[in-house]
Amino acid sequence: MIHITSDQIENIVTRLASEIKRDYPDQKFVLLGVLNGAYQFTSDLSKHFSENVILDFTQLKSYDGTKTTKEVKMILPPRAPIAGNTIIVIEDIVDSGFSMKWLKGELTNMGAKEVRICTLLNKQARRQVDITADYIGTEIDDEFVVGYGMDYNGYYRTLPDIRSLTEEEIENGKPM
Ligand code: IMP
Ligand code: MG
Repeated sequence: MIHITSDQIENIVTRLASEIKRDYPDQKFVLLGVLNGAYQFTSDLSKHFSENVILDFTQLKSYDGTKTTKEVKMILPPRAPIAGNTIIVIEDIVDSGFSMKWLKGELTNMGAKEVRICTLLNKQARRQVDITADYIGTEIDDEFVVGYGMDYNGYYRTLPDIRSLTEEEIENGKPM
């Protein structure tokens, strides 16, 4: 059973922001939040940076092809200038890794100077492709989690804490 309280999340977010500031003291980068799951994380993290940071969002859609292929599409392309800039992607959770691997390639194709990934959660046990986030909030076991922006069928996003779903809740498909 995973439970990460809003206080714990706040500490993690503060630590991640200082790691990013340590690496980029001049704060010249684009923060690119991945909708919808990372909306709360992006909002909280962004408050630690100066007004010179460009903040934007992108939205991806992925669907399973076979077990080892996954198609990813960008359904909301960023409007921020990507070419020539350092892009710090803000993601809620890296699971199979397909989304982040694909997005990193896409941003590189768009001419990004450098692409870094900052994820709140990392489910290493589920990884299917070789991708490592540069900034990791915390590792979690292979359980489906919701809250703090993360959903199950669109539900649970508004919760301020992160927690795993019970078997019953997964079966039910929505809050009981
Ligand atoms: P990927 O499998 O690494 O491509 O992950 C794709 C996306 O699936 C993540 O960005 C999340 O939005 C979502 N996801 C993966 N695991 C969970 C989970 O446990 N809860 C909620 N969303 C998840
Ligand atoms: Mg996501």
